[in-house]
Amino acid sequence: MTTSGVRVRIAPSPTGEPHVGTAYIALFNYLFAKKFGGEFILRIEDTDATRSTAEFEQKVLDALKWTGLTWSEGPDVGGPYGPYRQSERKDIYRPFVEQMVRDGGAFRCFCTPERLEQMREAQRAAGKPPGYDGHCLNLKAEEVTARMEAGEPSVVRLKVPTEGSCDFHDGVYGDVSIPWESVDMQVLLKADGMPTYHMANVVDDHLMKITHVARGEEWLASVPKHILIYKHLGLEPPKFMHLSLMRNHDKSKLSKRKNPTSISYYSALGYLPEALMNFLGLFFIQIAEGEELLTMEELIEKFDPDNLSKAGAIFDIQKLDWLNGRWLREKLSPEDFVARTLDWAMENDRLVEGLKLAQSRVTKLGELPPLAGFLLANDVGLTPASFGGLKTSPAETLEIVTTVQADLEKILEWNVTTIEEELRAISERMGKKLRVVTPPLFVAVSGSQRSLPLFDSMALLGRSVVRQRLKVAIQVLTAMAGAQN
Ligand code: GLU
Repeated sequence: MTTSGVRVRIAPSPTGEPHVGTAYIALFNYLFAKKFGGEFILRIEDTDATRSTAEFEQKVLDALKWTGLTWSEGPDVGGPYGPYRQSERKDIYRPFVEQMVRDGGAFRCFCTPERLEQMREAQRAAGKPPGYDGHCLNLKAEEVTARMEAGEPSVVRLKVPTEGSCDFHDGVYGDVSIPWESVDMQVLLKADGMPTYHMANVVDDHLMKITHVARGEEWLASVPKHILIYKHLGLEPPKFMHLSLMRNHDKSKLSKRKNPTSISYYSALGYLPEALMNFLGLFFIQIAEGEELLTMEELIEKFDPDNLSKAGAIFDIQKLDWLNGRWLREKLSPEDFVARTLDWAMENDRLVEGLKLAQSRVTKLGELPPLAGFLLANDVGLTPASFGGLKTSPAETLEIVTTVQADLEKILEWNVTTIEEELRAISERMGKKLRVVTPPLFVAVSGSQRSLPLFDSMALLGRSVVRQRLKVAIQVLTAMAGAQN
């Protein structure tokens, strides 16, 4: 592998809770950089303005910092090729897009959303694969100019060869060949002047002098588009490595519906970042049984990108638990253990804010653990009896928790106000009083009907822990409702 002046990056999109998959890809890039004395860079890919939020960006930064990985350039630390946030680079992309249009690598497209929808509908009806049909591909230059001058909205699309295939080498997959006919005439510049992921990603990797692109296998099919953009711009593409995605035991894609996937969930439950990195690092190295407990230095030392483990990346929580237990017992001194425990309890102000909420509800301090302990506990031990005292039947309780679980995903910013607003809206939609909807949630979230204020508790626990508790509640209630039928 040629490795002089290695520069690699992690390029998360701040559109959701930071995912363990991001830590997994980040760790690979970090190990790669460290192995070869290169640079590891963080770039925020927020071209999707409707889904990207400042809250999620902060969470991405916090989650990656929690993992212990460090980057030498990024939105928080600056660097010679900044800004490192794509929304601040809008003007940088335009000349590259214009060059591609001028040189015939891309074209203006005036198709309206309605026409595109009709086209997709017709493709669906005819059983054809979806993709742009080339309606605007051969517009005359004068027509394009006239329509643009008349203020008609347009996008820029990539021109794609109609025959042959895109052949390239991938550091993990080996030689790959993708027929051009399966590649869509991708939008490169949106009507509002923002580039799409593909355009921004290529331009930034070039300008930030990225030498190796290591990312999830879901991007492999995008490589032909990227190679075309590099070619039309007369640039040398970086080396590509597409890593197999982490999967559940049943080989399905790791998704929050099956397993908690947020980094914040694992930090909230008291996994050590060292253990999570150790666990993820084992996907990239070959080691014998009995040698699994490894520090970051040892991971770097054993990392060999030419000899990656072929054994798919199964997210085996039992193995993570086993490694975490070993880290707690074998790698921390008693003093470190205590210090880490206190740090963990203080994380995100859970304990401090929880105690303030509990102050007016206790007569003796010894009542605090049963009252507020749910803020720190891994789970709240839900059983059918937990829901027993509710006025709602198991079926109605289940309906409430299930509806709330789905709707809470729609909240963009997770805080007391947005949670309260959403729960009020859900109650209204369900035609129920808020005081009917909240008791089942008290139980699901805290394990008890008498606990701290619900909205504050949910905010303190965080979205990923609440999601998991509601999921467990749904399992218990489904069994109860089933048993009653
Ligand atoms: N923004 C993309 C993501 O969120 C990055 C893909 C890449 O590394 O090129 O996964």
